Amino acid sequence: MLLIKNVKLNGELTNILLTGNKITSIVKDLGDFMDIPSIDGKGNTILPAFVDIHTHLREPGFESKEDITSGLKAAVAGGFSAVCPMPNTNPVTDNKYIVSYIKMRARESGLARVFPIGAISKGLKGDELAEMASMQRAGIVAVSDDGMPVTNSNLMRKAMEYADGLGMITISHSEDKSLAEGHANEGANATRAGIEGISRVAEEAMVAREILLADSLNVAVHIAHVSTTNSVDLIRWAKAKGIKVTCETCPHYIVGTDELILNYDCNAKVNPPLREERDRQAIIAGLLDGTIDAIATDHAPHTKSEKDREFALAPNGISGLESAFGLCYTALVDSGLMSLDRLSELMSKNPSDILNLPCGELIEGGLADFVIVDTDKEYEIDSSKWYSKGKNTPFNGRKVKGQIMTTIVDGNIVFNRETEERI
Ligand SMILES: [Zn+2]
Ligand SMILES: [Zn+2]
Repeated sequence: MLLIKNVKLNGELTNILLTGNKITSIVKDLGDFMDIPSIDGKGNTILPAFVDIHTHLREPGFESKEDITSGLKAAVAGGFSAVCPMPNTNPVTDNKYIVSYIKMRARESGLARVFPIGAISKGLKGDELAEMASMQRAGIVAVSDDGMPVTNSNLMRKAMEYADGLGMITISHSEDKSLAEGHANEGANATRAGIEGISRVAEEAMVAREILLADSLNVAVHIAHVSTTNSVDLIRWAKAKGIKVTCETCPHYIVGTDELILNYDCNAKVNPPLREERDRQAIIAGLLDGTIDAIATDHAPHTKSEKDREFALAPNGISGLESAFGLCYTALVDSGLMSLDRLSELMSKNPSDILNLPCGELIEGGLADFVIVDTDKEYEIDSSKWYSKGKNTPFNGRKVKGQIMTTIVDGNIVFNRETEERI
């Protein structure tokens, strides 16, 4: 048994008793529990640990960018107890052997839970459906060709229908490549910087297609990394019509715009690209009114040498697991836009529900997966101190509030900032 003393839950100080990997009880009065081994929460806030349904762990194949152990260290340091790695590995996660390998490596690291996402198409080539049923038996929880759009609409239709038959959701990386040949959002800042632009329609046209396919088949679809005003409007319209669409956005679309590309910082190069202030405002409005269901990191680590290139040649992606909470808490909660409860829902319960995962809640009898955060702690983001191999973030030096102090997964302390119990 383990007692978590003196933590704030829903604004009130309380204590949480764990037995094994379960929360046995939430007790106000310590009474008989004084002799049990305990950790002191010091009045900090306790939340269900975060669940990231969009992560790139890069293993197998790209271990110089990240491997499963370094990625999971980053996850628990960022307050996540569960992550869903995307299948654009090498070899591609399009068969049960790779799924089993990822699950095995995750078990070895013993840090966070890993629920892999399998490919929609073999080799992410967009020609032929991957073996979804056998991958599901090996442990995948959803399918996606993330990184590559499914250009063939009929294949996407078949994928959505087949995945739904297996009780899984299809996740769309919505991008019309023919409209996305540039390297930054099409607009004044790309023009000013002399960088070729990517039309918003590249994203929006595919979002519209997925919504219409989901409607025609009466199945669910999940839209990854929503970044534009019209995407939010399309999803809002679809939800009002009762179409089964859910979506996520990422911390960088909540806190960043394409102004960050003006100094040619390749760490601000991401796909979909950082947009303009009006899009950022639309994303926030979507988070506030429930159009956007979840925040996912799209954690995309790269090596320094890959990002130290000419803007047009650098790969897309932002390393996001270790800055997600601080950025979102500062922009959304500390600013007064939303309650901590709503942010918690967006980072834990909702993403978990979208993929039917057994996580995301802090309740008696529930899994002991939670995070203790110091919501008053102010600090500067410094990726040189991260556990992730990917130091690529355009938010270095940014002052944020809200620091992860302790992360507990399955009843075990997997991260403790104070004792630096090295993970
Ligand atoms: Zn994507
Ligand atoms: Zn991605």
